[in-house]
Amino acid sequence: MVHIVGAGPGAADLITVRGQRFLQQADMVIYAGSLVNPEILQETKAGCQVYNSANMTLEEVMEVMEAGERDGLSMVRLHTGDPCLYGAIREQMDEMDARGIPYDICPGVSSFCGAASALAIEYTLPEISQSVILTRMEGRTRVPDRESIRSFAAHQSTMVIFLSAGMARQLSEELMAGGYKGDTPAAVVYKATWPDEKILRCTLAELGDEAEKAGIRKTALILVGRAVAQKGYLRSKLYSPDFETEFRRRRERDGEIMDRGNRSRGL
Ligand code: SAH
Repeated sequence: MVHIVGAGPGAADLITVRGQRFLQQADMVIYAGSLVNPEILQETKAGCQVYNSANMTLEEVMEVMEAGERDGLSMVRLHTGDPCLYGAIREQMDEMDARGIPYDICPGVSSFCGAASALAIEYTLPEISQSVILTRMEGRTRVPDRESIRSFAAHQSTMVIFLSAGMARQLSEELMAGGYKGDTPAAVVYKATWPDEKILRCTLAELGDEAEKAGIRKTALILVGRAVAQKGYLRSKLYSPDFETEFRRRRERDGEIMDRGNRSRGL
């Protein structure tokens, strides 16, 4: 059995409780060594076989998994962040299906969440943006034309761009060509939640220079949009006194507090 586990963005204690349990029980771990914090591997038991997939091909990964399955081992395939984003897990699952190796997926904290926590920001601010676009610049992996950075820029929503720190200048040009103004707030978060995390805040127009000056070319996310500045938003309806929810009545004018949740619990 293979548990595909999200290791989280970097800090060793940001793996889920379930993921950590799978690691502690594992007889074999195959981890994405380019990005997973090796400190997480200290959770493994003595005698656990550990492979770094950074220097393996898909075929080699499948070979060790197949042998592990034959020996009845409990295996963990450890990916950075959450495995559903740029994790190349579909091809592994298809191979496991073909070989009759059972698997499941344990989610993780994606780096785009780690970056928001590093900056202490909320991506979805009322009146500013209610959507987050997660995307990347084209590299060796093609991006379909209909998903060009330019076309997404037209939405002026919050954007989080993966795998593109080495192309920051080109990225900022594409974003501006697509409609974001040069003074749009932007940030680069390098190694979010790792001990050597670095944060750059700048405008979109300054992005290329700033990333270059700081020498950031990889393991970073680029965030763009008005939400990055966290200013000019409207207060939420959810916690407004004149808004009623399933859990809370509207506050009366005389200040009476009617909390349905508390009342139903007899408080
Ligand atoms: N599945 C991962 C993404 C893997 S793609 C996730 O959910 O986060 C690898 C890219 O993710 C890197 O090039 C970088 O853009 C981003 N990344 C991963 N970890 C990061 C971190 N701790 N800080 C900033 N960016 C990170």
